[in-house]
Amino acid sequence: LARLYLDRIGSSDLNAFIHVDEQLTLQQAAAADARIASGDTTPLTGIPIAHKDIFVTRGWRSTAGSKMLSSYTSPFDAAVVDQFHKAGTVTLGKLNCDEFAMGSSNENSFFGPVKNPWDRTAIPGGSSGGSAVAIAARLAPAATATDTGGSIRQPASLCGVTGIKPTYGRVSRFGMIAFASSLDQGGPMAQTAEDCALLLNAMAGHDERDSTSLDRPAEDFTRELGNSLQGLRIGIPREYFGKGLAADVEQAVRAALAEYEKLGATLVDISLPKTELSIPVYYVIAPAEASSNLSRFDGVRYGHRASDYKDLADMYRKTRSEGFGDEVKRRILVGAYVLSHGYYDAYYLQAQKLRRLIAEDFQNAFTQCDVIMGPVSPTVAWDLGAKADDPVANYLADIYTLSTSLAGLPGMSIPCGFGQGDKNGRRPVGLQLIGNTFSEAKLLNIAHQFQ
Ligand code: GLN
Repeated sequence: LARLYLDRIGSSDLNAFIHVDEQLTLQQAAAADARIASGDTTPLTGIPIAHKDIFVTRGWRSTAGSKMLSSYTSPFDAAVVDQFHKAGTVTLGKLNCDEFAMGSSNENSFFGPVKNPWDRTAIPGGSSGGSAVAIAARLAPAATATDTGGSIRQPASLCGVTGIKPTYGRVSRFGMIAFASSLDQGGPMAQTAEDCALLLNAMAGHDERDSTSLDRPAEDFTRELGNSLQGLRIGIPREYFGKGLAADVEQAVRAALAEYEKLGATLVDISLPKTELSIPVYYVIAPAEASSNLSRFDGVRYGHRASDYKDLADMYRKTRSEGFGDEVKRRILVGAYVLSHGYYDAYYLQAQKLRRLIAEDFQNAFTQCDVIMGPVSPTVAWDLGAKADDPVANYLADIYTLSTSLAGLPGMSIPCGFGQGDKNGRRPVGLQLIGNTFSEAKLLNIAHQFQ
């Protein structure tokens, strides 16, 4: 299996992978073979997997899609990587992503954009574009990804694959290069919800090295697969079907909802009135946390250091000017501004209060329904370059994914059809499923019944 996927990766020009090391992969495959021969297996033993290059790995480079870390190798494995090793998976390499996971199109990677295999002139979505493309183009059967404001769900949607962002705190952030710590959450991407459930079994779990990791008993996320959806109440948020939603996306999503009705579910009209505020709230909180997290890249401890400088301050300045890309710099500037004395109350504190209200919207909604469904992205994948110089246009496209992250809830994207795209062909549409905290097993089954 590893050989098969390595060959496919070798002949692919989609730029999904940042770093591949055949020898290392084949060594792990041999170790998996030995485990299988000795009968010491899990359902994932020998299964090839590729990791978003935001998870640090021993052996492979760990870049976060940034020039700052372009030659960095980690002395340890992220908790997630370690857990997959223990399950016996075989690492295929490191996947391209937006720099420090900031972006919605994968065009912010130092290693260049990733192409959408359905239509090579389209973006794959971001920030986990490499993960989604690896699955969609069959370059890997399983991938890890992270979601801070949509980075698992949106690329999964735009590439026609399945992905789940678990409840905040389910998956350890230890060794996951930090973007916005109160939002960052790892999760799997694969062809199906069933595969995602098996992968989440290996990924989730308490880790005392992550102070926000949840101390809950281990769960089998496959346990509800097969349950009937008879009587399921699906909340349809009005705000997710208003102006701004492309007609082709709406049509595919509504067709999927009709399928759910045939499976015995009922559709309930609900409201998430604070949806519109999720964009300004997220784009205050996430940059604030990012500006703090990225202060560690000072040229002393990790990665890039400017070669020519006068003194320490000059070294910091040049290192950071050279090492970070434009979007990362923009977020650092915004973050430092909203946290600064005199503006903190006006921006950061206000955003925190609104974050609470956004979370309350969901709790009100879950008194009327068991799961919420809607689109993931207001449009299908856009053309490469179309919004590359317009950060606000990118931010606005996150409208349906940010509030789930702000509320810490689990969310999924499953393929539900195709939109029009352009002259080059059709582009995938994803259906979003949002559940209450800790409802991953239920969400995975709801997705599974559709697939
Ligand atoms: N598109 C959002 C951003 O740019 C979300 C990214 C993510 O979830 N990592 O911040």
